[in-house]
Amino acid sequence: TAPEGDLKHPFFARQLRIVRENSGKIDPESIDEYIAVGGYQPLYKVIHDMTPAEVVDEITRSGLRGRGGAGYPTGLKWATVAKMPPGQKYIVCNGDEGDPGAFMDRSVLESDPHKVLEGMAIAGYAVGASEGYIYVRAEYPLAIERLETAIKQAKKLGILGSQIFYSAFDFKINIRIGAGAFVCGEETALISSIEGGRGNPRPRPPYPAQEGLWGCPTLINNVETFANIAAIVREGGDWYASIGTEKSKGTKVFALTGKIRNNGLIEVPMGITLREIVAEMGGGIPDGEVKAVQTGGPSGGCIPASLLDTPVDYESLSNLGSMMGSGGMVVMDKETSMVEVARFYMEFCRGETCGKCIPCRAGTVQMYHTLTKILKGEANQTDLERLQALCDMVKHTSLCGLGQSAPNPVISTLRYFPEEYTTLIKPDVLNGKVAVSH
Ligand code: SF4
Repeated sequence: TAPEGDLKHPFFARQLRIVRENSGKIDPESIDEYIAVGGYQPLYKVIHDMTPAEVVDEITRSGLRGRGGAGYPTGLKWATVAKMPPGQKYIVCNGDEGDPGAFMDRSVLESDPHKVLEGMAIAGYAVGASEGYIYVRAEYPLAIERLETAIKQAKKLGILGSQIFYSAFDFKINIRIGAGAFVCGEETALISSIEGGRGNPRPRPPYPAQEGLWGCPTLINNVETFANIAAIVREGGDWYASIGTEKSKGTKVFALTGKIRNNGLIEVPMGITLREIVAEMGGGIPDGEVKAVQTGGPSGGCIPASLLDTPVDYESLSNLGSMMGSGGMVVMDKETSMVEVARFYMEFCRGETCGKCIPCRAGTVQMYHTLTKILKGEANQTDLERLQALCDMVKHTSLCGLGQSAPNPVISTLRYFPEEYTTLIKPDVLNGKVAVSH
């Protein structure tokens, strides 16, 4: 684990904390402590000094992109909901963090719940919504408890509810508890779950910004995205845009795990390289060498050690066949079997597919069986070619992001570690052919 107390150590010194600026510093159960560090001043500022359009412009100028993984420009999403005709609109905070090994949102909700509530209220003011829902997975009981306490405290002080800060702006927040389905992190499935239906995704368009919760325009962002909002209003969009790369602004929180010396949550400026994170902050691998870094959880890919100088931003990770994802970052050493890794994530997706569409429902099962066959040394060249074909089919024909990204761990390991597959293929069947095409 990280060397506690030594703030000059790169694990701490290389961090830039915006989302986690208060984490560990204030009592998450005390609204007074949140207010004492400047909390709720940004909400007061937008209500009294800014028009809703000015708030949307500030967020747009910041360059903030959705931290749930896809990286859609936040300002554009807010502007779309703001432009919808006046009437009932909703704000939804996605706290259904489900990637294996990821606990960024959990940490934010447990350590600084008011920050997320404030981000949601500012969003409500900006787009014309008077009600919000925060959807948290049931596996996070402490986060739920602290959110309940925070909502009660804010209501008591007139910071949530009717006529906030003696203005005409009303905003209330409800908590909904997820029942443990990974697919409910997908926005249309999440909406269905809040409505009391089964957590199944539906085709888009219409997008939730047009027709979301109970058919009304709905703004959905995840916990980390909302946790950036108060700081952007406080310091200005230009300040936020000065951090990061040309297209990926601000910071990102990662759960750094795996075979690494210093692990834990880190918040780093976009554009830092994977090598700086793994070698400097993480301290490398004890008695070993890095083989790969997996980003993006079951939706992401495995990046080989030869590409560790890649900057961490949306485009660079996507160009390598991986993705930013919500913030899982797993470091693997030379002993790790990349085929095992691919099978681990496929097993996860096979268990979490909602079953609505055939490519994902049947494809993930078939890919899992083929990977198992390969690992047992029972597969031949035809199986390998079938695995590649399945990856293409599932990626391009599944209904939602879960299926569309499920093959990524397989595709990336086939791309960067083909020999790990070919050495497991029956030699008599392989017959000298090159087993994997690129
Ligand atoms: Fe359900 Fe998978 Fe289809 Fe998404 S891609 S709708 S999770 S079956």
